[in-house]
Amino acid sequence: MGEKILIVEDNKTLAKLIAKKLESALDMSVDVAYTMAEAKLFIARYNYFIALLDVNLPDAPNGEIIDFAIEKKIHSIVLSATIDKNFRQQILKKNIIDYVNKSGVEDINYIIQMVQRLQANKNHKILVVDDARTFRHTMQKMLENLFFKVITVAHGEEAINMLKAQPDISLVLTDYTMPVMDGLELTREIRKTYSKSELSILALSANENEEITALFLKHGANDYINKPFSKEEFSCRVNNAIEALENIQTITNYANRDFLTGLFNRRHFFTELHGYIDNISASAEQFAIGMIDIDYFKKINDKYGHDTGDKIIISLANILRSSTSPYDIVARFGGEEFCIVLKNINPNSAEEIFNRIKENVEKFSYRINDDVSISFTISIGAVLFNEEESVEDNINEADMMLYKAKNNGRNQVLFEA
Ligand code: GH3
Ligand code: MG
Ligand code: MG
Repeated sequence: MGEKILIVEDNKTLAKLIAKKLESALDMSVDVAYTMAEAKLFIARYNYFIALLDVNLPDAPNGEIIDFAIEKKIHSIVLSATIDKNFRQQILKKNIIDYVNKSGVEDINYIIQMVQRLQANKNHKILVVDDARTFRHTMQKMLENLFFKVITVAHGEEAINMLKAQPDISLVLTDYTMPVMDGLELTREIRKTYSKSELSILALSANENEEITALFLKHGANDYINKPFSKEEFSCRVNNAIEALENIQTITNYANRDFLTGLFNRRHFFTELHGYIDNISASAEQFAIGMIDIDYFKKINDKYGHDTGDKIIISLANILRSSTSPYDIVARFGGEEFCIVLKNINPNSAEEIFNRIKENVEKFSYRINDDVSISFTISIGAVLFNEEESVEDNINEADMMLYKAKNNGRNQVLFEA
């Protein structure tokens, strides 16, 4: 079990229903308190990821639990059956995450989605760019309440530098009017380097000029928020922008990866390799390419079946990944054929690593049951990249070495420096 959730709700049937739904949908354990006194005992004892709070409790009829939870720095979602507008607005002024109805199944589903969103938000870093300090601070508090990691800067140049220093920023929230470089220029500048699938941009402005909105969108902002805005609108737009980014990244990942092993596919291997070659073009950095093929794989398929053959392919993929550095490129070219690029390496070390991979495969065996385990071997043909020749020619050369290794008796590395 992962983190904990606290539900404070005096309607026992409803509380238990929500608890059950949350536990089955999320990897979290849920505690239920029926009164504020009980809630205090739980809070004194455990750390909670989130609390769901009813505003009418027998011993706290006017939302006192909310202030208590906020004081204890617990991120809270308020549950209510009332939809009175004034009451809602009064509650939303407090530093809570959201205000949710609790009248139907859809409301519970909404809560589940919200909690999932908040869990995922922990993986995202947001850069807030605004020259007004109080505004920066307000946004930081709202975003941190949604579990984002937040960095704030006061102007465009600082933002550009921060993006260079912290390449894992997911979203930039930028004001329009700022000295020197305004939000629009910043957006244009960012889009020269980062596409919409890498980084999301949300623009903010008090300017009611519709032209500015359109310009922002044309220059690559994903969305736009007019000041002043409600906390609810702000949360929804930020969460939506992050969710859209995640969806694009999921799709890209599917397109770039081999379904069976999760390694890069052949097409993406070439994209990665060309990107790498461009990056090192000005330096004297050397690297090696190795083609890898399982020996007598047909026999494994024939003897143990295609499904077991697949398991062997997956096992080999894992060995290749764990025998190389995270920076190296490891791809499945198809069938039981793989290709590896060992980056920034000299010929001796490259040969050593390819031999270690060969040995790691020899040592490994795939256990089918108590009595049967399968061992297998691989052959590797490898070259030190020759920059006088094309990528394709280098790979053909490695292929030739692989062919020789097979003819030479298999289970060996043939490396040409
Ligand atoms: P060699 O030592 O010469 O490489 O012999 P080999 O038996 O490995 O020869 P070959 O490369 O011709 O055979 C590869 C076999 O791999 C043929 C094909 O049926 C099987 N194969 C290709 N893709 C897959 C796959 O995704 N899963 C499984 N289980 N088998 C596959
Ligand atoms: Mg083979
Ligand atoms: Mg083959």
